Amino acid sequence: MIYHHIALNTILPPLTYAHDTALPLGSRVLVNLRGKPQIGVVWANHVQPEIDVNKILPILKIFDHEPTLPENWRELIDFTARYYHYPIGQTVFTALPSLLKEPRPIESPESPVFYTLNDLGKQQTPPPKNHAKKLQLWQALFSGCLDMATLKKIHPKAIDLINEYKKLDWLSICTATTPSIPPSQHILNAEQTEVSNTIQSHLHEYQPFLLHGITGSGKTEVYFDVMATVLAQGKQVLFLLPEINLTPQLLARVAQRFPDVPTAVLHSQTATGARGRDYLRAMLGHAKLVIGTRLAVFTPILDLGLIVVDEEHDNSFNQDNELRYHARDLAVWRARQVACPIVLGSATPSLESWHKAQIGAYQLLTLSHRANAIAKLPEIELVDVRRMRLDNGFSPQVLNLLKQNHQNGGLSLVYLNRRGFAPALFCGDCGHTFGCPNCSAKLVLHQRARQLRCHHCDFRQPIPHACEECGNQDLTAVGQGTQRIEETLKNFLPLAKIVRVDRDSMHKKTDWAHLYDQIHAQQVDILIGTQMLAKGHDFPNLNLVVVLNADGSLFSSDFRAPERLFAELMQVSGRAGRAEKAGRVLIQTQLPEHEIFHAIRAQNFAQFATQELAQREMFGLPPFGFQAAVRADALKMSDAVDFLNEIRDVIAPMLPENVSQMGAVPMLMARLAERERAQIFIESMNRVALHRALSLWEQVLAQHRDNRIRWHIDVDCQEM
Ligand code: ADP
Ligand code: ZN
Repeated sequence: MIYHHIALNTILPPLTYAHDTALPLGSRVLVNLRGKPQIGVVWANHVQPEIDVNKILPILKIFDHEPTLPENWRELIDFTARYYHYPIGQTVFTALPSLLKEPRPIESPESPVFYTLNDLGKQQTPPPKNHAKKLQLWQALFSGCLDMATLKKIHPKAIDLINEYKKLDWLSICTATTPSIPPSQHILNAEQTEVSNTIQSHLHEYQPFLLHGITGSGKTEVYFDVMATVLAQGKQVLFLLPEINLTPQLLARVAQRFPDVPTAVLHSQTATGARGRDYLRAMLGHAKLVIGTRLAVFTPILDLGLIVVDEEHDNSFNQDNELRYHARDLAVWRARQVACPIVLGSATPSLESWHKAQIGAYQLLTLSHRANAIAKLPEIELVDVRRMRLDNGFSPQVLNLLKQNHQNGGLSLVYLNRRGFAPALFCGDCGHTFGCPNCSAKLVLHQRARQLRCHHCDFRQPIPHACEECGNQDLTAVGQGTQRIEETLKNFLPLAKIVRVDRDSMHKKTDWAHLYDQIHAQQVDILIGTQMLAKGHDFPNLNLVVVLNADGSLFSSDFRAPERLFAELMQVSGRAGRAEKAGRVLIQTQLPEHEIFHAIRAQNFAQFATQELAQREMFGLPPFGFQAAVRADALKMSDAVDFLNEIRDVIAPMLPENVSQMGAVPMLMARLAERERAQIFIESMNRVALHRALSLWEQVLAQHRDNRIRWHIDVDCQEM
């Protein structure tokens, strides 16, 4: 008998099972766990059984026709599990697509066949222009070699067309699978060229780059330029970006630039089957370009030649449940593992990455002006609203500008990162506000739905007629949400076409396409939107951006709040003036003297980062010190706090020297979905020591079973 360690979807370490031959590492098997057949992955073979061999169960089934999960992928999983102090088996099951978690054999994709038009085919009349997709497919076949998966992305009925062309004998099959890449429509400017050349002089080694480029400076064109070289060498590229930026526009841009490149798209919304297939295509090297959101960082890739992380500062790379990982950080680890370059790009880099560039661990590359020669960075002005009477959140100055811009035919954006009608319902008599019964959060008024809603746990109730405390029927909506802003503007500018863009108004993919069409046809005068609208979108006509109530977060005790606000305001300002029309940005604030606004007005990230890093250094905060949180939640706060403090006291005598652990405190959002939440911060200037302390925590936590408590460890925690 040969004994194997099998990684299973459980908190237990890989368990021992027997088989009469040694099974290849990374193969999928079926075994019994607590009487139920389960899928597992072979993690080790030829192991010494540490229990009575008569108790070791046999492996039930082997999926031996399937390709195995490669070694460097297993190393990535091992590292992730170790670094984030999360069980290996559950890490494996987070990283696998559903297709591979099911106890059924998978159809391993065959090596793709590549088609192109032969001489006879090329002599034919192309399909007419009104058959746009057919024409696009034909053009792609005319200029290159494409496999079925890629053809299907161009035209869903590609199979029928290929069969038709085959019958007509218009096709030949290509042998070379190195894609041909047409040149870009743009000629890179001098700055872009220099940046691209620098990256390309490090193509076969581990080299992290931080590409700091202002909004619209042409970062994407630089990525594409480097990608073109790597893809032309037959190597694969991993391109990670925030969920919100993975838009049909971006995918269209990729398809246009790399029409022949077999592409895999991986994000949480991709249909299960498609995601599984794309995962395998990347693993087997069939898909050359792998695009996706944070979870795509776990895709096995046969011959990785380059990683790009666009908007590297974005919080959505950080997963804040179950396996709490940071995709950007894991991407850097992967680049080192396979010795390839990685480009982290942003207009407002994370202070972690910026610091690494300052100390020379990353190479800093800069794009300092807008790529499009006529587009200039907008002017940013502050509107001091301290002693001003606002009209439903608007200063007179801002209202006038919106009116003027509408009269002049301009497109304006009103930005407010708060959806709903009003953030609170208030009783003028007793001062009561309506809170969520499950969370420490106020209920948001949704006027049209006639509801109060919690934006954290989705609790909903009809709008009450009277105060629950004193019975007063005169309740007021305080503060502004996007719906209220919409109503105010519609009253003020009845002739303007106003469109609101937030999570309540955008549901389907086609909503975006529709919005783009409307804007393109100049049928929109004013956009009202949340973050959803602020990130990445390119609306060429937009020439006025107004930010209402920018300062909320500056009162927060989260030390990352200024960093996030700076990024948010640069993002939204960056929407203005992307084409010929000069842009203007107005920010309403109660704190015009706050130092963050000096840097914002100067649009000077370096200045901001220097200020902010000096403060972080003074307090030993990340990136100068390393931090992890151990969190616990229970029905009662005192249970969660006592639980954490008890364990802290057990660990205290064993704690490595240069590690400190605080007392347990309630989280900023102390109550969420009926659970009360506490945390302890573990800090050190030394990463290794911090991890030793966390391993201790892990051990002691595992021994302290308490049914009332749920706990987790969050390394490099982002939430306070
Ligand atoms: P970023 O990713 O930095 O926001 P993009 O790559 O999206 O910038 O470029 C911004 C705009 O400028 C796009 O419309 C793009 O087509 C255009 N652009 C980029 N590079 C060039 C160039 N070298 N010449 C002309 N236009 C360019
Ligand atoms: Zn709630």
